[in-house]
Amino acid sequence: MAVALAVAASLLPFFYHLLVLSASGWLYAGAAYIAYNTSGSLVPGKINVHLVPHSHDDVGWLKTIDQYYVGSNNSIQGACIQNVLDSVVEALLADKNRKFIYVEMAFFHRWWRQQSDTTKKAVRGLVSSGQLEFINGGWCMHDEAAVHYIDMIDQTTLGHQFLKQEFGQVPRIAWQIDPFGHSAVQAYLLGAEVGFDALYFSRIDYQDRQKRKDTKSLEVVWRGSKTLGSSVDIFTGIFPKDYEPPPGGFYFEVNDESPVIQDDPLLFDYNVQERVDDFVAAALSQANITRTNHIMFTMGTDFKYQYATSWFRQMDKFIHYVNKDARINVLYSTPSIYTDAKHAANEAWPLKLDDFFPYADRANAYWTGYFTSRPALKAYIRILSSYYLAARQLEFLKRGSYGHTTNSLAEALAIAQHHDAITGTEKQHVADDYAKRLAIGYTEAAKLVESTLTSLTESHSNSGHDGDDALAAKFEQCPLLNISYCPASESEIKDGRSLVVLVYNSLGWRREDIIRIPVISDAILVTDHEGKIIKSQLLPINNASLSLRKTYVQAYVGSSPSVTPKYWLAFPVTVESLGFSTYFIRSAETRGTHAFMSIVDSSQGMKNSTKEIEQGNLKLQFNHDGKLSFYFNKKSLVKTSIEQTYSYYVGNNGSDIDPQASGAYVFRPNGKFPIESDKVPLTIIEGPLLHEVHQQINSWIHQITRLYKTNEHVEVEFIIGPIPTNDGIGKEVVTQFTTTMDTRKTFYSDSNGRDFIKRIRDHRSDWNLQVNQPVAGNYYPINLGMFIEDDKTELSVLVDRAVGGTSLVDGQVELMLHRRLLHDDSRGVAENLDEKICIDTKCEGLIIQGKLYFRVDPLGEGAQWRRSTGQKIYSPLLIAFSEEHGGNWSNSHATTFSMMDHSYSLPDNVALITLQEVQDGNVLVRFAHMYEVGEGKNLSEMAYVDLKKMFPGKKILKIVEMNLSANQERQQMEKKKLKWQVESSPSAETVVRGGLVDPTELVIELGPMEIRTFVLNFNNTYSHLPHR
Ligand SMILES: [Zn+2]
Repeated sequence: MAVALAVAASLLPFFYHLLVLSASGWLYAGAAYIAYNTSGSLVPGKINVHLVPHSHDDVGWLKTIDQYYVGSNNSIQGACIQNVLDSVVEALLADKNRKFIYVEMAFFHRWWRQQSDTTKKAVRGLVSSGQLEFINGGWCMHDEAAVHYIDMIDQTTLGHQFLKQEFGQVPRIAWQIDPFGHSAVQAYLLGAEVGFDALYFSRIDYQDRQKRKDTKSLEVVWRGSKTLGSSVDIFTGIFPKDYEPPPGGFYFEVNDESPVIQDDPLLFDYNVQERVDDFVAAALSQANITRTNHIMFTMGTDFKYQYATSWFRQMDKFIHYVNKDARINVLYSTPSIYTDAKHAANEAWPLKLDDFFPYADRANAYWTGYFTSRPALKAYIRILSSYYLAARQLEFLKRGSYGHTTNSLAEALAIAQHHDAITGTEKQHVADDYAKRLAIGYTEAAKLVESTLTSLTESHSNSGHDGDDALAAKFEQCPLLNISYCPASESEIKDGRSLVVLVYNSLGWRREDIIRIPVISDAILVTDHEGKIIKSQLLPINNASLSLRKTYVQAYVGSSPSVTPKYWLAFPVTVESLGFSTYFIRSAETRGTHAFMSIVDSSQGMKNSTKEIEQGNLKLQFNHDGKLSFYFNKKSLVKTSIEQTYSYYVGNNGSDIDPQASGAYVFRPNGKFPIESDKVPLTIIEGPLLHEVHQQINSWIHQITRLYKTNEHVEVEFIIGPIPTNDGIGKEVVTQFTTTMDTRKTFYSDSNGRDFIKRIRDHRSDWNLQVNQPVAGNYYPINLGMFIEDDKTELSVLVDRAVGGTSLVDGQVELMLHRRLLHDDSRGVAENLDEKICIDTKCEGLIIQGKLYFRVDPLGEGAQWRRSTGQKIYSPLLIAFSEEHGGNWSNSHATTFSMMDHSYSLPDNVALITLQEVQDGNVLVRFAHMYEVGEGKNLSEMAYVDLKKMFPGKKILKIVEMNLSANQERQQMEKKKLKWQVESSPSAETVVRGGLVDPTELVIELGPMEIRTFVLNFNNTYSHLPHR
């Protein structure tokens, strides 16, 4: 009463009112326990507000994943996932009507293994009652622009397998609320083909959003694949604003400012009616732009529910009082309940095709910079993605157990797909954390690979050993081969010994290729497993590569390499599908006789004349300035003028009227400048296997253009950096391929390495685009490549990692390769994208090395090259080294191997994208048809995979077709999946899909663009794997 007595005279009438309210039994009666009625259920005919309590937990961003989990490093951001999960479980147990969704298995898995049996039992109860629902359920909420579809599948599968094993749960909903734009592959592959009934997210272009609000078309049926048509339709909900609570003050974390419901009449500031009115107003406002009488309130945001009761207490009261008020109906819900309600409404929805790229949240803020940000991390993830694919194949082929697995690589890769990981939008220390996890994962997987190769190379008489036999070969690999560092091949080859080079092919096709390794001697020769001398070529290693090697090896390994290789040794290899071949490098008595020493001509650029180089069917011409000018294919007779140039954009520093700077997320250029010197000196290196043209474009860009005898395309290797910033200007470096083709504003870019989507400059198919950023607003994410075409020819460019790309003028392809920026773009990361490499305390801007591949084809003939070469770029040959003593390796070791029947290889239009042992002797396999309808002349046809020939010597006892993430049988999934109606469908469609697999024939059919997933059960008493 002390407070009441001290109350100001003007408040007395209010105090009196409280006393009157507590009618029975003196002063404390009004403070009685209130049993809130939280049992809201759907009410037909009313607006139903689905409260969806959630926490958006980034798997690393401003802090590392583990810092977020344990709640350390809170000076950066107060966030602790343990608090979230602990307190949510408690809050759910306190009221059976409360619900919560959880998304990121990387966090949940960390928490789960630390729980007591009692807690686990209670949580299992919450899951089976539907109070706690897992949605999305991948290891992270993957990005959708810079990720490869194989990685999206793998990381989703990892989470889904965990949920299946621990809870028997199959998530129903895709929840991609934060990624910065949305891909067609997400909708049709990681949505519909996973078996999800709906997909929800928030980030779409601000102009698109406005139009959708105006036309009540924020909720659509998305048909992401031209080829698979309505069979992959998925209901898609776009939030009206973002993934936070609606406007009007509904944030209830402990320190949030929104007014809580004060419903104790004995206390001051009683506000039930005001808050009920606020809530009803927010609901009506959202209902005005939404079809049906169901709306969703996303109750949460980043790293919330650290004290869950704080949120649930308020939501309990809203449900209680708003339902009492009875104008609208409120309930605890989940996206599944919401989706079912939408479905039950039996509406026809607007149809959405293609994708939601690029994303802009304001006029000058196109989130197209992150397509390229942190190009080295993007490349590292891509390299390890394919290594993981190969390592799982070898894990399947291993004999015996070595204790090494691919598990830690699987988890590191899964985390790296997060929308603040591969995107490059994390703080530097977090990027370092991802790289560290990947390196640890690689090291573990490499041991598995090496042990498996040891066991596979043991000859029949030796087989049965587990790999630690003293005679067994020891293999090592060279993860830094891309920067010319390979200790195994750089050692001196002494008399009587030779370097054994084992080359493994993870593709389902026989492969001919040219490999390159650094060597120190020119007196060497290469033989195959039969002792036949192989034609090889020595190429000098240029200074730019050597200097990159010196700095980066020291940075990565901690010490400078003791020797410096002089040459690249290049030689052709032939490797069977899912198999290996062995080559030997021996010392030769004379130099230059067996390994051809390349002819080096560095004078050409000095003369005022054009220069041609020719290898196989291709001829390139460089003009008198030293620039690429002409392309000619003798076989296809395609001739075209083509120029390749470099430019940089000045990153906007945010000092004009609109303070938006170019940064990790946003690309906002402020002028474009060509990178040119009058004359680019050329060094031409020629030999029987390949030609190279070396060009120093400027003091920080070096390029090698290569023509291989075995390839009908041009390979461009670039070294870019450090990008100079001593002028105070951040720069974003691009290269352009320019032709005279009349491409009519049109170009094609891939969706996550899979379908190609037509893009038209300054145009969007869903609304009338207002062009504010003519450059940044025309950038699209590229994972596989881009192409342009006119009525005669098509130019394709393929990439070795995710980048951004566009076509800003007809006839041109532009790709952004590197960015170094000096300002933050104010989207939360609060750091400049200014990557550096340091040795001790000396730091300099990051140098990027990478490759592009291009080719010009007659119109309609480029697809085959894009698809098959794209697959080879994704899955390079795996090279391992050993040493031979005394020249008898071939007698004591298997030198060639193929898992498949020697007469068999996969069809040209099919890729094996997963071969992996799972539990209980089961094996997971996925096949991908690589062509869209109408894309490849004879390749867009039904394809057939003969499993008996793929796995000879093994008997397949059982085959079950699964959904994409392999957590349910395909037929079950088809049966359960909700079907949606669309307002108007394009003309009649024919979707071709493979039929059921006959368990005796064991032939798998694949229609265009189909990916089919199977679990095979073998009799594990196989005789032996076939050697040849
Ligand atoms: Zn996020």
